Amino acid sequence: MGSQSSPPTLELLKEEIPVKQQPLLLSQNFTTGLVLVDLVNGFCTVGSGHLAPKEENEGVSKMVEESVKLAKKFAEKNWPIFAFLDSHHPDIPEPPYPSHCLIGSNEAKLVPDLLWLENEPNATLRSKECIDGFIGSYEKDGSNVFVDWVKSNQIKQVLVCGICTDICVLDFTCSVLSARNRGFLSPLENVIVASQACSTYDLPLHVAKASKDLVSHPQALMHHVGLYIAWGRGAQIASEVSFE
Ligand SMILES: [Zn+2]
Repeated sequence: MGSQSSPPTLELLKEEIPVKQQPLLLSQNFTTGLVLVDLVNGFCTVGSGHLAPKEENEGVSKMVEESVKLAKKFAEKNWPIFAFLDSHHPDIPEPPYPSHCLIGSNEAKLVPDLLWLENEPNATLRSKECIDGFIGSYEKDGSNVFVDWVKSNQIKQVLVCGICTDICVLDFTCSVLSARNRGFLSPLENVIVASQACSTYDLPLHVAKASKDLVSHPQALMHHVGLYIAWGRGAQIASEVSFE
């Protein structure tokens, strides 16, 4: 359950590399789009494959719960939602990760509490065969589904949630920031990561040490590092989200 890192390590990290978080108040007057990263069974549902939690995980459960709350609120308000679904062809591996979220499998499906998004008119679902959803949004003709979504909805800020804070959420956030800075995402201004609606996987040091193939990845530390890097690149970090 949760990270096995001793609290002093996390506290030390938070002291050495603090992340500035602020509450976020969303208003009708500033168009916000919600981006859900990989809220699929293969990452979120206990026992659903190699990259899913092996047992109930508080961080992941909380992330799903918060993301579902935000999605419901956005749907209620008819605000745009964009959901990435990690989906892989069985013959194309994604190193360094083991096989996961194969196309058509239950792992590549949205978590049960978000399945309704499949029929939600304001939701755009995008299967991605790579870590970075921005790259995964490119079509063969060079167009980009995410860029088109921002432009067609005239989105001024995106609120990003999902899993993993330091992997798919981070890479997507960094790409969006670069694209925005280069002027490819007008009228997008703000890129915000919802810290409570993000999480990452847990592979504590003592587990990693027991196998030569595993790399330590303590959940709470890596979640913090992910937020820190996103913030350092220019994202805002929202401690909590409320609606006007
Ligand atoms: Zn993947």
